[in-house]
Amino acid sequence: MVGEGETNKSGGAAGAGARARATGRDRPRVVTEESLAELALGPLLDDLLVRIREALAADTVVILLAEPGEQELYAAAVLDFEEEISERVRVPIGKGFAGKVASTGRPVVIEDLDRADAVNQLLRKRGLKSLLGVPLHLDGDVVGVLHVGSLVTRTFAPEDIEVLEGIGERIALAIGRARAHQAERRAHERLAFLAEASHLLSRSLDFEETLTGVGRLAVPRVADWYTVTLLEGDRLVPVAVSHADPDEVRAGWELVRRYPPEPDAPHGIAQVVRTGEPLLTAVITDEILASASRDDEHLALLRSLGARSRMLVPLAVGERMLGCLELVSATSRRTFTEDDLRLAEELGRRLASALENALLHRAEHEARARAELLQAVTAHLASARTQREVADVLVQEGVAAVGASAGWVALLSRDLRELDLVAAVGYPAEVIERYRSIPLEGAIGAQEILEHGRSTWLESAEEVIARYPRHADAYASMGYEALAVVPLEVDGAPVGFVALNFPEPTTFGESERGLLLAVASQCSQALERARLYEALAERANAAVVLAHVDDGVFQVDPGGVVSYWNPAAEHLTGISAAAAVGRPIGELLGGWEEASSAIEVTARPGVASAGDAVPLVVSGEERWLSVSGVRNPEGTVYAFRDLTSERGLERTRREFLATASHELRTPLGAVYGAALTLLHRDLDDEQRQGMLDMVVRECERLTRIVEDLLLASNLEHVDLALGAADAVALAEEVVSLRGPTVPEGVSLTLAANGRPILVACDPERLRQVLLNLVDNAIKYSPDGGVVRLEVAADGGHVRFAVEDEGIGIPAGEQRRIFEKFYRLDPHLSRGVGGSGLGLYISRELVQRMDGRINVESEPGRGSRFVVELPLARG
Ligand code: ADP
Repeated sequence: MVGEGETNKSGGAAGAGARARATGRDRPRVVTEESLAELALGPLLDDLLVRIREALAADTVVILLAEPGEQELYAAAVLDFEEEISERVRVPIGKGFAGKVASTGRPVVIEDLDRADAVNQLLRKRGLKSLLGVPLHLDGDVVGVLHVGSLVTRTFAPEDIEVLEGIGERIALAIGRARAHQAERRAHERLAFLAEASHLLSRSLDFEETLTGVGRLAVPRVADWYTVTLLEGDRLVPVAVSHADPDEVRAGWELVRRYPPEPDAPHGIAQVVRTGEPLLTAVITDEILASASRDDEHLALLRSLGARSRMLVPLAVGERMLGCLELVSATSRRTFTEDDLRLAEELGRRLASALENALLHRAEHEARARAELLQAVTAHLASARTQREVADVLVQEGVAAVGASAGWVALLSRDLRELDLVAAVGYPAEVIERYRSIPLEGAIGAQEILEHGRSTWLESAEEVIARYPRHADAYASMGYEALAVVPLEVDGAPVGFVALNFPEPTTFGESERGLLLAVASQCSQALERARLYEALAERANAAVVLAHVDDGVFQVDPGGVVSYWNPAAEHLTGISAAAAVGRPIGELLGGWEEASSAIEVTARPGVASAGDAVPLVVSGEERWLSVSGVRNPEGTVYAFRDLTSERGLERTRREFLATASHELRTPLGAVYGAALTLLHRDLDDEQRQGMLDMVVRECERLTRIVEDLLLASNLEHVDLALGAADAVALAEEVVSLRGPTVPEGVSLTLAANGRPILVACDPERLRQVLLNLVDNAIKYSPDGGVVRLEVAADGGHVRFAVEDEGIGIPAGEQRRIFEKFYRLDPHLSRGVGGSGLGLYISRELVQRMDGRINVESEPGRGSRFVVELPLARG
């Protein structure tokens, strides 16, 4: 036994001596009875220590405790041995002095520490020589160790052991009561926590608010970390991470983003979601971390969180599994117990039902928002008539509906080889320009769309790049983080797609997908409508164009029956569309069969050469039509022009050249012959005179022809000197001019009553007209006869009539003889020469003097040309 005074360094209190002197049996009661009144463990122990030191005259007193379920002791209270506390000594049960006391469950005495091995170095450092330790038993378990030490070697007497054991029993009892109290308080706290949680959960129907509110409540009160993971389809999606320190929250998110829970994992969250059973890991060892980690980096991240204890509880409503709630202790060094797990389960149940409500609420809200959006889309689509307008609605509404930052709509080109960009929002102009039309092969989304009609949902830039490595650079440079591509279908066949780009990595949940698919499907129908509309508009346009085109256009089906006949065709042929459509083309255009070999028909418009006109009989009349055709699936479209008049002109020109050269050659030949005769022959005077007369006559004829030619080509520029002249005097002049030269057998007479009749005219030109008519009458009376010129006033007019008894003119030719260069064929005109210009010039001049000219004739009986001109006034 060690003398009291020697080792009692701190015993100075007045009552200490009295207690020290109490008998051995009383001692335990004395030191513990008051202390037991203290229910809180901390203050109780401190007070107790002083009393123990006094009772056992010891130098140090140490109480070590073990937390329930733990395999080590920690210093809970010391007297004169502060090192134990400050160095945070933890003694494994079974090791060292205290560990031995705990593991054997019996008192242990070490009389000479110097000779004992396997004791804590701290004990030696403190200078202790002898130790006595007793276990603290509670309900048959060792919950701690109480030991006293002496700085001098000392033999502890059996009473000392008994006394310390007695004190130990009471301490254990006190611990038991304190723990019960603590448990009660904790139970109370748990109830209070649950009540608060319930209150909070009942307050909000907002999903986010529910999740984060519980997090705020639980951290740090029941745990250091709080996470919620939801089951979406067959994926586990982390939706909440809470920690008191925002930096830690970031670190937590980083961890779950990089290593999201794997749905098939055999342990952890996946296991809880699969089995519906909670999971308590009271102490997280490094081995557990190592086995849960996927790679070294993952392990490092897990370690950095400092997790110590963990609870996972299912979030389920009835049979429906929503996900998993995770509570982790770290810096608080809390070790979760079964009681904590029950609390967590209860919290999980309440959170699950609140989340279920919030989800229903959100679903209902989303359904409403979706209905509203679809309504808005429908309203916008109602006014979209073209495919472009539909596509515009689709990108605008689609981008807004799902929070995308850019979007585009591409439609398959007609030949199905390309994608045409028809609408885009959110892209720079040069990007739009670059992708206006892209080859189908390798285009983003195209393969899925065309081969499978499938949508593509890529939730991060990495996924996009992995799927479309070819577009990696372009995609990366645009800075988008997610992509959705949804097909547009008409009658179940893909016609294009809408692609949306997102500024953030995006989770495409059922509702986002559903919404986008619904918008796309509405737009698909609108697209079909727009296609029909555009086709109709195109046809209507085409019809308008064809109605206003100058060329005749008609379509013939493969059976040769007319299926279209445009207004120009009606006009040019005189056959109405109603009469033409449905009839074989051969019946409408006579000679079609023979002509068609000369008509060029091509497969594409714009390549036919300007072919020659072909003769076709239209409404009984021969016409020269220039026709070309382009084949299409419904037949052949022909366009034609009527070149009959051009062709007539061409023929006239050719005929004129023949006539003119012939007419010029005849007088020239005569003059040349006469000149040669005069030169080489000895002629008498009379013969010479005859020759010269002929030269003069033929020269006059030549001059007339040349004058006629000049006049005819320049008639419109001839100025008329309009005035008044005496018609009778003019007629007399003509007769006296021509009278002397009429051939034999022809007599020229004038019929006028002698009184002057004033006619409004250019007298020069009128004389020319009358001379021409008289000349013709003489010329075309090769067998002789009377040529009669008659002048008379008739109403407001002066009428000149030139009548002959010559060869006459067939009825069908009477109109045409007034055309430029027109002459009856030599057979009908008995080879009489002429230029074919006289009557043309005459008609033009008469018309310009406000008169008219016509002819009556009977072949073989003679002709009567009548010129009517206005009477001159005054
Ligand atoms: P031409 O120089 O050939 O006479 P015109 O213009 O004067 O030219 O006449 C045109 C044609 O009309 C003549 O070629 C002729 O065939 C016919 N013709 C004109 N006058 C008469 C007539 N008095 N009797 C019969 N045929 C006529």
